[in-house]
Formats: sequence, structure tokens, C-alpha cells
Amino acid sequence: MIKEAMLYNSLDELKVACHLCSHFCEIVPGKSGFCGVRENRDGKLFSLVYGDVIASHVDPIEKKPLYHFFPGSLSYSVATIGCNFRCSFCQNWQISQASREKNGGPSGKNLKPSEVVTAALKKGCRSISYTYTEPTIFFEYAYDTARLAKKKGLANVFVTNGYMSAQALETIHPYLDACNVDLKSFREDFYKKICRASLEPVLESIRMMKRLDIWVEVTTLVVPGQNDSSEELAEIAGFLASVDRNIPWHISRFHPDYLYTDSKATPLDTLSRALEIGRNAGLRFIYIGNVLGMSEDTLCPVCGAEVIRRTNFSIANNKLKEGACPFCGAAVSGRFK
Ligand code: SF4
Repeated sequence: MIKEAMLYNSLDELKVACHLCSHFCEIVPGKSGFCGVRENRDGKLFSLVYGDVIASHVDPIEKKPLYHFFPGSLSYSVATIGCNFRCSFCQNWQISQASREKNGGPSGKNLKPSEVVTAALKKGCRSISYTYTEPTIFFEYAYDTARLAKKKGLANVFVTNGYMSAQALETIHPYLDACNVDLKSFREDFYKKICRASLEPVLESIRMMKRLDIWVEVTTLVVPGQNDSSEELAEIAGFLASVDRNIPWHISRFHPDYLYTDSKATPLDTLSRALEIGRNAGLRFIYIGNVLGMSEDTLCPVCGAEVIRRTNFSIANNKLKEGACPFCGAAVSGRFK
């Protein structure tokens, strides 16, 4: 479905400037922006994917991954096609890059925001996640759904590359409760060549989310030969610790996918090294993703006792009492109540 976009302004000669993400595209009539799902039609900008849901599932919140946000709850997860990045190792490339197909890609099933909220409530979900592709590029749909969801007592979650503009974040933040941000690298070169984007806006989004009191967890997919040097991992961990030592850092194992099939899966030794680097940087909660049984439990940051045990995205034992360690009483950061 087509809907007039939010966050743009008109320029001379029927051009428009989109303010939704840090590409800040200027688009001439008849063309779309870098994401391929926002088009200038006679001087007005339109979202081409409003309500065209290409994927919807009920997922455990741990799959986002969010480990400190209502652990053990379900999240109704939706996506449209399209993305504002071009990562060659994308694990959802069939839908994230579909808008680049000649025919504009598959359109998905039309679901009104009210239908998403009703489905989430019916399935017993605690939140709605805008995920699988980049939620920023279906902002209007996410915004309308999130407002309605909030009214009905549901939380809203963005699983994002963090490339939204400050204006977009400011606009959605009253309805946005949590984000998992992909911090893919700490090298501008990596963001330029692999993602066709830039690093600093992602860092600024993480800082801004914390200022706006949105719960933030960060994921880094460690790709052999790309972002796995000790120096770079230390820079990522150091940055997160400088924003807030309580930001959970999910170090995720790479598996060959999409255009990037030359490399093998990330060695377990590399993941252990990253874990140690995160600890040395002062991060209090570090998790390893895509590997069963390797650092998936939450430990009390003060006494070290296991307070949440996880197995394969589900909670085996949650011992937290009102968000605090039952053994020493220390508060564990997150949204638990
Ligand atoms: S969302 Fe980003 S990529 Fe898409 S048109 Fe707007 S500025 Fe360009």
C-alpha cells in the first residue's frame, strides 16, 4: 500500500529531501531513495510498503536478541521489504534487498496497524518488534502501529542498524521502548564498502537512545577477516562502555550467507577472545549468539551468581526478584517489571 511519507520536505523542481535516515536522499520525481521503498511522485514522497507485511512471526524476545527486556516474553514480529544498507553477509537478504528486484519485489500481505496489534494481543505477546529488515525504512507503518500498540499496553521494539536520523528517533521515541542496534564494525571503511553507509550516525543513535531512556542492547556479528581484530573489538567494547557499562553486548557468530560465502563460520576462539575484550573494557553483560550453550546466561554484575539461565532462546530459570539479584540484592539493569 502507498502512503505519503513522514519526515521529508519539498525542494525546487519537484525534488524532495527525505530526513528519515542518515542517507538524507534528495530524490527527483519518478525515482526512489537508496532504500528503494520511498518514491517521489510529482513532488511528494511516498512510502511504497505501508502495511505490506512480508514476514510476521511470534518470537521469543530473546531472539531479537534482547536479554534484559521482559525475559521469557513473546514479541509479535513484523517486517516489510527493503533496507538502507547493502551488507553482503545479510542473513535476511531475500527480503531486505527485495526492493532492488526489477519488479520492485514481492508486496507481502496487507495488515493494518490495528490488525497487527490485535494479533499480538491474541497471541499473548508483551511487545511488537519491527525487525527482520530495517524498521526505519517502513517508519510510517511502524509509527502508526507503535502508537496504537502503546495505547493497548504493548511495548515496541526496533531491531535496527541504527542509521535512522535524530529526527526519526525523536519522533518515534515516545512509543519506542527498546532497541537492539547492530554495531557492525568500528571502521568507517567497513561501513562505506560493505554497508554503503557510515559509522558515526550509528554511534550517535546509540548515544541518543540512551539519552531518550530507550532500553538498548547491541549486537556485533563477528566476521572473520572483516571486524575480528582485537583492536577493533576493543574499540567497539570501549565505545559501549563509554556510553553505559550496562549495555548488553551480543557477540554473534557469523555463518556464510548471501554474497559473502568466502569466509568460514567464526571460530569459537575468536568469540572467546571478544568476550574477554568486552570484560576488560568494563562491560557488565556480554553474550555469545548463534552458539548453543556459550555465554547465554545473565550473571549478577556484583556477586557473579547466575540470575537468568537460558537455553536456545528460552528461559530455563529466571531467579531475578523485581529486577534484582536474589543473592546479594544488586539491581540488574533492564526492564523486568
Ligand atoms: S529512508 Fe533513507 S535511504 Fe530511504 S529515501 Fe529516506 S533517506 Fe533515502
